[in-house]
Amino acid sequence: MEDEKNLTEEKKEESVEERRETERAKEEKESGYERYCQMCKRPESLVGRLIQLPSDFYVCNDCIQKTFDSINGNSFPYMEMLTLDPSMFRMGGDFMKMPKVKKKAKPEEKEKETGDEKPALDIKNLKPPHKIKAELDEYVIGQEHAKKVISVAVYNHYKRVADQSNTIELEKSNMLMLGPTGSGKTYLVKTLARLLNVPLAITDATTLTEAGYIGDDVESVLSKLLAAADNDVERAEHGIIFIDEIDKIAKKRNTNSRDVSGESVQQGLLKLLEGSEVEVPVGATNKNAMVPMTTINTKDILFICGGAFPDLEKIVKKRLNKTAMIGFGAELKDKYDEDTMLLSKVTVEDLREYGMIPEFLGRLPVIFALQGLGKEQLIQVLKEPKNAILKQYEHLLSLDEVQLVFDEDALLAIAERAMEKDTGARALRAILEEIMLDIMYEIPKDDSIGKVTITGDYVRGCGGPVIELRGA
Ligand code: ADP
Repeated sequence: MEDEKNLTEEKKEESVEERRETERAKEEKESGYERYCQMCKRPESLVGRLIQLPSDFYVCNDCIQKTFDSINGNSFPYMEMLTLDPSMFRMGGDFMKMPKVKKKAKPEEKEKETGDEKPALDIKNLKPPHKIKAELDEYVIGQEHAKKVISVAVYNHYKRVADQSNTIELEKSNMLMLGPTGSGKTYLVKTLARLLNVPLAITDATTLTEAGYIGDDVESVLSKLLAAADNDVERAEHGIIFIDEIDKIAKKRNTNSRDVSGESVQQGLLKLLEGSEVEVPVGATNKNAMVPMTTINTKDILFICGGAFPDLEKIVKKRLNKTAMIGFGAELKDKYDEDTMLLSKVTVEDLREYGMIPEFLGRLPVIFALQGLGKEQLIQVLKEPKNAILKQYEHLLSLDEVQLVFDEDALLAIAERAMEKDTGARALRAILEEIMLDIMYEIPKDDSIGKVTITGDYVRGCGGPVIELRGA
């Protein structure tokens, strides 16, 4: 009895539904409008009653059938993926060789860790500034002030990292380094990272753009650092990031278009410089669905920005001249024309005028300049650092049991040629490569050669090297 009652009620409901449908179809016909299949665009009067999918999406029977057919026939583009073993998608599976990330150990886990692994950075035994500088001296010629500033800033930075007392919050000592091309900015940072045994990522500000535009977004620098730290998040969080060519992201003057590679990049860098938690793709520099992500906190990462800042000297000179010419003590207008130390007199206001935004400069409290290298210093760069270029060539030839000597005049001639190029110490290697090519080619031919002396005349192209035979 009960069942029969239910059946009749269902039938009643069905007929009500059908009646409504026919009424709707009639109304639509009369109004001149009707529904159509949103896949094949044919009207309901032609394809029969449409099926309503969520979000008021109407499809005809044909289109539904075709969709099922294409799925079953494997022509559905992602079908193969659905049939794969889901474990393949996990990191370390065979399907994709995803890099393994070493997550940060929780404090309680850290205690359990065995002590056989060498810590990334031994903060407790950090070298004091004078020792850091002494080690830098072995590699970097000149730049006394810069080496001193950087040693102190680095020491303070890692002391701040190690400080657990939480009594006074110490500010980050991110740095801004100014100096002409080839004065050793990159070299200084590289040497520092090696001495401290911390990972280093070097990036070029010109490749960065605001997120969403062609180019790398600012967070890509963290992916580079993570890669340099062998995907060890904790090591990366104590690393150094060097952003070169920072002057190229100065605010563009007189422009109405959106400044995606200038001011916006400075804005984007703010949160990294100050310290924030950032989601970073592992093993790639851009985010996409197939790349695993990890979180990096940038609060203990030391940021060093560097740039040549061409024309900044003009701004400094203008300011200095203005103050010098006011009042009774007015001095000569061209007093600063020959000043080679202008960059070291730079102030935050000068940098603002250059196009760096105040918030950005505020996050780089340590500002210092490197000097362009003179002839004497270029000669020193050639022969004095621990891995000096001349020492490298001498060693290469000693492997052939040949002694290589550069006389003083040759060194002077090389330095003079480098000065002409105006690219600082960068020019030295290229010049030496050129000079040494013939010698490196000819010497292995002749076993009897015991010593080669490079002379000034040879470097200037008006003579040959002095060759001495073995046992002579
Ligand atoms: P930049 O200031 O343009 O970043 P780099 O640091 O790249 O210049 O210098 C290029 C090369 O010149 C370095 O790899 C290094 O071998 C040499 N060099 C530059 N400056 C110095 C210096 N002060 N002392 C020793 N070598 C230097």
